[in-house]
Amino acid sequence: MLDKVIINKLECFGKHGVFKEENVLGQKFVVSAEMLVSRSSNDDLATSVNYSEVSLFIDNIVRNKVFKLIETLAENIAEGILKNFNVHEVTVKVEKPWAPVGLPLDSASVEIHRKWSKSYISFGSNMGEKSEYISNAIESIKANENIRVNKVSDIIVTKPYGGVEQDDFLNGCMEIETLYFPEQLLHFLQSLEQEAKRVRKVHWGPRTLDLDIVLYEDEIINTEELTVPHIDMENRYFVLKPLSDIAPYAMHPIFHKSAIQMYKELEK
Ligand code: ATP
Ligand code: MG
Ligand code: MG
Repeated sequence: MLDKVIINKLECFGKHGVFKEENVLGQKFVVSAEMLVSRSSNDDLATSVNYSEVSLFIDNIVRNKVFKLIETLAENIAEGILKNFNVHEVTVKVEKPWAPVGLPLDSASVEIHRKWSKSYISFGSNMGEKSEYISNAIESIKANENIRVNKVSDIIVTKPYGGVEQDDFLNGCMEIETLYFPEQLLHFLQSLEQEAKRVRKVHWGPRTLDLDIVLYEDEIINTEELTVPHIDMENRYFVLKPLSDIAPYAMHPIFHKSAIQMYKELEK
Protein backbone atom coordinates (compact mmCIF):
# COMPACT_ATOMS: atom_id res chain seq x y z
CA MET A 1 0.00 0.00 0.00
CA LEU A 2 1.23 3.47 -0.89
CA ASP A 3 0.55 6.73 0.94
CA LYS A 4 0.11 10.09 -0.72
CA VAL A 5 2.19 13.12 0.24
CA ILE A 6 1.01 16.38 -1.29
CA ILE A 7 2.69 19.72 -1.84
CA ASN A 8 -0.01 22.16 -2.79
CA LYS A 9 0.55 25.36 -4.76
CA LEU A 10 4.17 26.10 -3.99
CA GLU A 11 4.89 29.60 -5.33
CA CYS A 12 8.21 29.90 -7.16
CA PHE A 13 9.89 32.47 -9.34
CA GLY A 14 11.29 31.49 -12.74
CA LYS A 15 12.10 32.65 -16.24
CA HIS A 16 10.42 29.97 -18.36
CA GLY A 17 8.56 30.85 -21.52
CA VAL A 18 8.82 31.20 -25.28
CA PHE A 19 9.07 35.02 -25.22
CA LYS A 20 12.37 36.79 -24.64
CA GLU A 21 10.71 39.13 -22.14
CA GLU A 22 9.71 36.14 -20.02
CA ASN A 23 13.29 34.84 -20.01
CA VAL A 24 14.54 38.25 -18.83
CA LEU A 25 11.89 39.49 -16.42
CA GLY A 26 10.62 36.19 -15.06
CA GLN A 27 7.30 35.58 -13.35
CA LYS A 28 5.45 33.49 -10.79
CA PHE A 29 4.98 29.73 -11.26
CA VAL A 30 2.79 27.68 -8.97
CA VAL A 31 3.79 24.02 -8.53
CA SER A 32 1.85 21.19 -6.94
CA ALA A 33 3.13 17.64 -6.50
CA GLU A 34 1.25 14.52 -5.38
CA MET A 35 3.71 11.81 -4.43
CA LEU A 36 2.99 8.14 -3.79
CA VAL A 37 5.39 6.84 -1.16
CA SER A 38 5.81 3.64 0.85
CA ARG A 39 4.04 3.70 4.17
CA SER A 40 6.37 5.31 6.71
CA SER A 41 7.16 3.43 9.89
CA ASN A 42 7.62 4.53 13.52
CA ASP A 43 6.87 8.21 12.94
CA ASP A 44 10.35 8.45 11.42
CA LEU A 45 10.98 11.13 8.80
CA ALA A 46 13.94 9.17 7.41
CA THR A 47 11.55 6.45 6.19
CA SER A 48 9.23 8.92 4.50
CA VAL A 49 9.61 11.79 2.06
CA ASN A 50 10.60 15.13 3.54
CA TYR A 51 8.20 17.62 1.94
CA SER A 52 10.25 20.62 2.93
CA GLU A 53 13.27 19.14 1.13
CA VAL A 54 11.10 18.38 -1.89
CA SER A 55 9.78 21.96 -1.85
CA LEU A 56 13.32 23.36 -1.84
CA PHE A 57 14.24 20.95 -4.62
CA ILE A 58 11.30 22.14 -6.77
CA ASP A 59 12.06 25.81 -6.07
CA ASN A 60 15.67 25.25 -7.09
CA ILE A 61 14.66 23.80 -10.47
CA VAL A 62 12.10 26.54 -11.20
CA ARG A 63 14.55 29.27 -10.17
CA ASN A 64 17.76 28.02 -11.78
CA LYS A 65 16.77 26.34 -15.04
CA VAL A 66 15.11 27.98 -18.05
CA PHE A 67 12.69 26.10 -20.30
CA LYS A 68 10.44 27.32 -23.09
CA LEU A 69 7.56 25.06 -22.12
CA ILE A 70 5.96 24.42 -18.74
CA GLU A 71 5.60 20.80 -19.97
CA THR A 72 9.39 20.49 -19.93
CA LEU A 73 9.59 22.18 -16.55
CA ALA A 74 6.99 19.75 -15.14
CA GLU A 75 8.87 16.82 -16.67
CA ASN A 76 12.13 17.93 -15.05
CA ILE A 77 10.49 18.34 -11.67
CA ALA A 78 8.76 14.94 -11.89
CA GLU A 79 11.94 13.11 -12.93
CA GLY A 80 14.00 14.89 -10.29
CA ILE A 81 11.58 13.93 -7.53
CA LEU A 82 11.47 10.27 -8.66
CA LYS A 83 15.26 10.01 -8.87
CA ASN A 84 16.17 11.90 -5.71
CA PHE A 85 13.49 10.99 -3.20
CA ASN A 86 11.84 7.80 -2.04
CA VAL A 87 8.85 8.28 -4.36
CA HIS A 88 7.26 5.61 -6.58
CA GLU A 89 4.88 7.75 -8.52
CA VAL A 90 4.25 11.48 -8.89
CA THR A 91 1.76 13.87 -10.42
CA VAL A 92 3.16 17.35 -11.04
CA LYS A 93 1.07 20.38 -11.91
CA VAL A 94 2.67 23.64 -13.02
CA GLU A 95 0.48 26.73 -13.23
CA LYS A 96 1.44 30.00 -14.85
CA PRO A 97 -0.95 32.63 -13.48
CA TRP A 98 0.65 35.49 -15.41
CA ALA A 99 0.94 33.67 -18.74
CA PRO A 100 1.20 36.38 -21.43
CA VAL A 101 -2.03 35.58 -23.23
CA GLY A 102 -3.44 39.10 -23.59
CA LEU A 103 -6.83 37.99 -22.30
CA PRO A 104 -8.07 37.64 -18.75
CA LEU A 105 -7.46 34.12 -17.44
CA ASP A 106 -6.95 32.48 -14.08
CA SER A 107 -3.88 30.53 -15.13
CA ALA A 108 -2.46 28.32 -17.87
CA SER A 109 -1.24 24.98 -16.54
CA VAL A 110 -0.01 21.47 -17.32
CA GLU A 111 -0.30 18.31 -15.27
CA ILE A 112 1.83 15.22 -15.85
CA HIS A 113 2.08 11.84 -14.22
CA ARG A 114 5.33 9.84 -14.07
CA LYS A 115 6.32 6.67 -12.23
CA TRP A 116 8.87 3.90 -11.83
CA SER A 117 7.38 1.15 -14.01
CA LYS A 118 8.20 -2.49 -13.35
CA SER A 119 9.45 -4.49 -16.31
CA TYR A 120 11.15 -7.83 -17.03
CA ILE A 121 13.99 -8.10 -19.54
CA SER A 122 15.18 -11.41 -20.89
CA PHE A 123 18.75 -11.62 -22.11
CA GLY A 124 20.68 -14.16 -24.16
CA SER A 125 23.95 -14.72 -25.97
CA ASN A 126 25.36 -17.58 -28.03
CA MET A 127 28.41 -16.12 -29.75
CA GLY A 128 31.91 -15.19 -28.64
CA GLU A 129 32.48 -14.26 -25.02
CA LYS A 130 28.88 -14.95 -24.07
CA SER A 131 29.05 -14.35 -20.34
CA GLU A 132 31.07 -11.18 -20.88
CA TYR A 133 28.46 -9.75 -23.27
CA ILE A 134 25.81 -10.51 -20.69
CA SER A 135 27.65 -9.09 -17.69
CA ASN A 136 28.57 -5.94 -19.65
CA ALA A 137 24.92 -5.46 -20.56
CA ILE A 138 23.83 -5.89 -16.94
CA GLU A 139 26.44 -3.33 -15.81
CA SER A 140 25.30 -0.81 -18.45
CA ILE A 141 21.68 -1.27 -17.42
CA LYS A 142 22.60 -0.78 -13.75
CA ALA A 143 24.55 2.38 -14.64
CA ASN A 144 21.56 4.01 -16.37
CA GLU A 145 19.96 6.58 -14.06
CA ASN A 146 16.53 5.90 -15.59
CA ILE A 147 16.65 2.26 -14.53
CA ARG A 148 16.90 0.44 -11.20
CA VAL A 149 17.74 -3.25 -11.31
CA ASN A 150 15.82 -5.15 -8.61
CA LYS A 151 16.74 -8.76 -9.38
CA VAL A 152 18.87 -10.73 -11.80
CA SER A 153 18.23 -14.45 -12.30
CA ASP A 154 20.83 -17.18 -12.44
CA ILE A 155 22.15 -17.75 -15.94
CA ILE A 156 21.11 -21.00 -17.64
CA VAL A 157 22.49 -22.87 -20.65
CA THR A 158 19.86 -23.66 -23.27
CA LYS A 159 19.63 -25.25 -26.70
CA PRO A 160 18.98 -22.89 -29.65
CA TYR A 161 15.37 -22.18 -30.59
CA GLY A 162 13.89 -21.85 -34.07
CA GLY A 163 15.74 -24.54 -36.02
CA VAL A 164 18.94 -22.70 -37.03
CA GLU A 165 22.11 -24.77 -36.47
CA GLN A 166 24.20 -22.86 -33.87
CA ASP A 167 25.96 -22.87 -30.50
CA ASP A 168 24.18 -23.18 -27.12
CA PHE A 169 22.79 -20.06 -25.46
CA LEU A 170 23.29 -18.45 -22.11
CA ASN A 171 19.97 -17.00 -20.96
CA GLY A 172 18.56 -15.13 -18.01
CA CYS A 173 16.10 -12.52 -16.93
CA MET A 174 16.07 -9.38 -14.79
CA GLU A 175 13.47 -7.34 -12.97
CA ILE A 176 13.84 -3.60 -13.36
CA GLU A 177 11.98 -0.43 -12.52
CA THR A 178 12.30 2.30 -15.09
CA LEU A 179 11.30 5.86 -15.90
CA TYR A 180 11.46 5.02 -19.62
CA PHE A 181 8.31 4.50 -21.61
CA PRO A 182 8.34 1.11 -23.41
CA GLU A 183 9.68 2.45 -26.75
CA GLN A 184 12.44 4.38 -24.95
CA LEU A 185 13.38 1.24 -23.04
CA LEU A 186 13.50 -0.75 -26.30
CA HIS A 187 15.76 1.86 -27.91
CA PHE A 188 18.13 1.82 -24.96
CA LEU A 189 18.31 -1.99 -25.05
CA GLN A 190 18.92 -1.88 -28.81
CA SER A 191 21.82 0.53 -28.25
CA LEU A 192 23.38 -2.06 -25.94
CA GLU A 193 22.88 -4.77 -28.59
CA GLN A 194 24.67 -2.46 -31.04
CA GLU A 195 27.51 -1.91 -28.58
CA ALA A 196 27.91 -5.67 -28.36
CA LYS A 197 28.46 -5.55 -32.12
CA ARG A 198 25.41 -7.60 -32.76
CA VAL A 199 24.88 -8.09 -36.47
CA ARG A 200 21.40 -9.15 -37.50
CA LYS A 201 21.84 -11.74 -40.22
CA VAL A 202 19.53 -14.68 -39.73
CA HIS A 203 16.32 -14.31 -37.70
CA TRP A 204 16.70 -16.57 -34.69
CA GLY A 205 20.34 -17.03 -35.78
CA PRO A 206 23.45 -16.64 -33.60
CA ARG A 207 23.90 -13.35 -31.73
CA THR A 208 26.33 -11.77 -29.30
CA LEU A 209 23.49 -10.21 -27.30
CA ASP A 210 19.71 -10.28 -27.36
CA LEU A 211 17.72 -8.11 -24.95
CA ASP A 212 13.94 -8.47 -25.10
CA ILE A 213 11.20 -6.77 -23.09
CA VAL A 214 9.15 -9.63 -21.71
CA LEU A 215 6.64 -7.67 -19.61
CA TYR A 216 6.10 -3.97 -18.89
CA GLU A 217 3.70 -3.39 -16.01
CA ASP A 218 0.41 -4.92 -17.19
CA GLU A 219 0.61 -3.19 -20.56
CA ILE A 220 -0.41 -4.78 -23.84
CA ILE A 221 1.47 -3.22 -26.75
CA ASN A 222 1.24 -4.09 -30.43
CA THR A 223 3.10 -1.64 -32.63
CA GLU A 224 5.38 -2.16 -35.58
CA GLU A 225 8.48 -2.20 -33.40
CA LEU A 226 7.17 -3.53 -30.12
CA THR A 227 5.08 -6.46 -28.94
CA VAL A 228 4.56 -6.70 -25.18
CA PRO A 229 4.12 -9.21 -23.55
CA HIS A 230 6.95 -10.66 -25.60
CA ILE A 231 5.78 -12.84 -28.45
CA ASP A 232 5.74 -16.57 -27.80
CA MET A 233 7.03 -16.24 -24.22
CA GLU A 234 4.60 -18.91 -23.07
CA ASN A 235 6.44 -21.46 -25.25
CA ARG A 236 9.98 -20.49 -24.31
CA TYR A 237 11.74 -22.38 -21.54
CA PHE A 238 14.68 -19.92 -21.70
CA VAL A 239 12.30 -17.05 -20.86
CA LEU A 240 9.96 -18.77 -18.38
CA LYS A 241 12.54 -20.63 -16.30
CA PRO A 242 14.55 -17.53 -15.22
CA LEU A 243 11.43 -15.33 -15.08
CA SER A 244 9.59 -17.72 -12.79
CA ASP A 245 12.70 -18.03 -10.59
CA ILE A 246 12.83 -14.29 -9.86
CA ALA A 247 9.13 -13.41 -10.23
CA PRO A 248 6.88 -16.48 -9.99
CA TYR A 249 3.76 -14.34 -9.65
CA ALA A 250 4.44 -11.87 -12.47
CA MET A 251 1.23 -11.94 -14.50
CA HIS A 252 0.75 -12.26 -18.24
CA PRO A 253 -1.90 -9.58 -18.90
CA ILE A 254 -3.55 -11.41 -21.83
CA PHE A 255 -3.55 -15.02 -20.59
CA HIS A 256 -4.02 -13.94 -16.97
CA LYS A 257 -1.48 -16.58 -15.94
CA SER A 258 1.49 -16.21 -13.64
CA ALA A 259 5.05 -16.94 -14.76
CA ILE A 260 5.20 -20.08 -12.61
CA GLN A 261 1.89 -21.32 -13.99
CA MET A 262 3.08 -20.86 -17.60
CA TYR A 263 6.39 -22.53 -16.75
CA LYS A 264 4.66 -25.57 -15.20
CA GLU A 265 2.33 -25.90 -18.18
CA LEU A 266 5.29 -25.76 -20.58
CA GLU A 267 7.17 -28.43 -18.63
CA LYS A 268 4.28 -30.90 -19.01
P1 ATP B 1 12.34 -12.88 -30.89
O1 ATP B 1 11.73 -11.49 -30.80
O2 ATP B 1 11.42 -13.91 -31.49
O3 ATP B 1 12.94 -13.32 -29.57
P2 ATP B 1 14.83 -11.88 -31.72
O4 ATP B 1 14.91 -11.42 -30.30
O5 ATP B 1 15.98 -12.66 -32.27
O6 ATP B 1 13.52 -12.75 -31.92
P3 ATP B 1 15.50 -9.38 -32.75
O7 ATP B 1 16.31 -9.49 -33.99
O8 ATP B 1 16.23 -9.17 -31.46
O9 ATP B 1 14.57 -10.67 -32.66
O10 ATP B 1 14.45 -8.22 -32.84
C1 ATP B 1 13.63 -8.06 -33.97
C2 ATP B 1 12.66 -6.92 -33.68
O11 ATP B 1 11.76 -7.30 -32.65
C3 ATP B 1 13.28 -5.66 -33.14
O12 ATP B 1 13.64 -4.81 -34.19
C4 ATP B 1 12.20 -5.06 -32.27
O13 ATP B 1 11.66 -3.88 -32.84
C5 ATP B 1 11.13 -6.12 -32.25
N1 ATP B 1 10.46 -6.33 -30.96
C6 ATP B 1 9.11 -6.44 -30.85
N2 ATP B 1 8.76 -6.64 -29.59
C7 ATP B 1 9.90 -6.63 -28.85
C8 ATP B 1 10.15 -6.78 -27.44
N3 ATP B 1 9.13 -6.96 -26.57
N4 ATP B 1 11.43 -6.73 -27.03
C9 ATP B 1 12.44 -6.53 -27.93
N5 ATP B 1 12.26 -6.39 -29.27
C10 ATP B 1 10.99 -6.45 -29.74
MG1 MG C 1 14.72 -12.73 -28.62
MG1 MG D 1 15.39 -9.47 -29.60
